[in-house]
Amino acid sequence: MTSQPSADRSPETVAITSGRAHTGAALATPLYSSTVFRLASVSEARKLAQQPKPPQFYSRHGNPSVAAFEDAIAEMEGADAARAFSSGMGAVTGVILALCSKGSHIVAAQQLYGGTRAFLENACPRFGIDVTFVDATVPGALAGAVIAGTTMLVIAETPANPRLELVDLDELGAISGPFTLVDSTIATPLGQRPIDHGVDLVLHSATKGIGGNNDALLGVVAGEKDLIDWISGFGNLHGACASPAEAVNGLRGLRTLSVRLRQQSETAQAVASALEGHPAVDAVCYPGLSSHKQHDLAKRQLRSFGGLVTFDLIGGFAAGTAFIEALELVIPAMSFGGPETLACHPASTTHAVLDDEQLADAQIGMGTIRLSCGLEATDDVIADIISAIDHIG
Ligand SMILES: *Cc1c(COP(=O)(O)O)cnc(C)c1O
Repeated sequence: MTSQPSADRSPETVAITSGRAHTGAALATPLYSSTVFRLASVSEARKLAQQPKPPQFYSRHGNPSVAAFEDAIAEMEGADAARAFSSGMGAVTGVILALCSKGSHIVAAQQLYGGTRAFLENACPRFGIDVTFVDATVPGALAGAVIAGTTMLVIAETPANPRLELVDLDELGAISGPFTLVDSTIATPLGQRPIDHGVDLVLHSATKGIGGNNDALLGVVAGEKDLIDWISGFGNLHGACASPAEAVNGLRGLRTLSVRLRQQSETAQAVASALEGHPAVDAVCYPGLSSHKQHDLAKRQLRSFGGLVTFDLIGGFAAGTAFIEALELVIPAMSFGGPETLACHPASTTHAVLDDEQLADAQIGMGTIRLSCGLEATDDVIADIISAIDHIG
């Protein structure tokens, strides 16, 4: 079907060409809403039942629409295979429970999405899984916390929620022994490819930038085939399987990711510059600013600095609340990667499950605001944000 190997093509092109093997001549991914498929014979059924991801058997195990999405993400990430889940958290919990057992140890970055952090800190100990959190921006910190023979998994997120701190992917990929996992949701598959740096597994909440239209709740993890087969085999029991409708929306989102990411990062860079030095603003976090403490690493490892900007308002909780309430164009909502510019107050939304100590660890203050830049005209977005800041009493 394709004559030129995708290795010669840009990732922006692969976002268009990938994920078409299961869907015939259709350009838009067909929706296979069927939960179940006709079995050719008993012996064929026996074969399919043993496979971790049979494409046409029973849709909790596999489905052609879902397989199209999985293939596309695997190719984008330079991985052999991928497994889709019902959400990013479905993927996070599916991978952890597939790979870890009672007595296992996990090393995790303290900079993580609130739900991931809460699962590791509150749920894992109930299953006898011990977790050590480290400041993953400190060189060698993740590797230093590995206990040989006991640590099963090293988990990092880069760029990380919500302060957009980075983890050095070369350093993470060089850790041997435990499996290494990167939550690459904020970067998207066009922003970085952790597997190229030696990382074992890359995970996305495709609910965000990949889906990109706020209409798909979807997660995915990509890696080497045997590992993905193992995760899929467990995933069939775990049950957090992707819906075929969400997979279709996820793949439709991937097709337009490159133009959206370009516009969102252009606006984010301009917003970050406008906020920097504003008298009501304390710190501005954006990997594309030369003031970002890991800007050199960002230039080395990111192809796009992305659409998220996080900043601290000097007036704390009162200022954060007044800012959110004064916005007219920008919408108060907590996801990211969609067409609308969104503002969220992490302490009371994405990270509301964390206690004060965990919030301090994640460096989330009461005046911290995370912006997800959308597709409106850049000037209109900046004007609304500056006007809302000027409204703070
Ligand atoms: C949103 C998010 C998740 C969770 O994804 P859901 O699709 O909401 O379950 C995990 N990791 C990161 C970085 C996220 O932003």
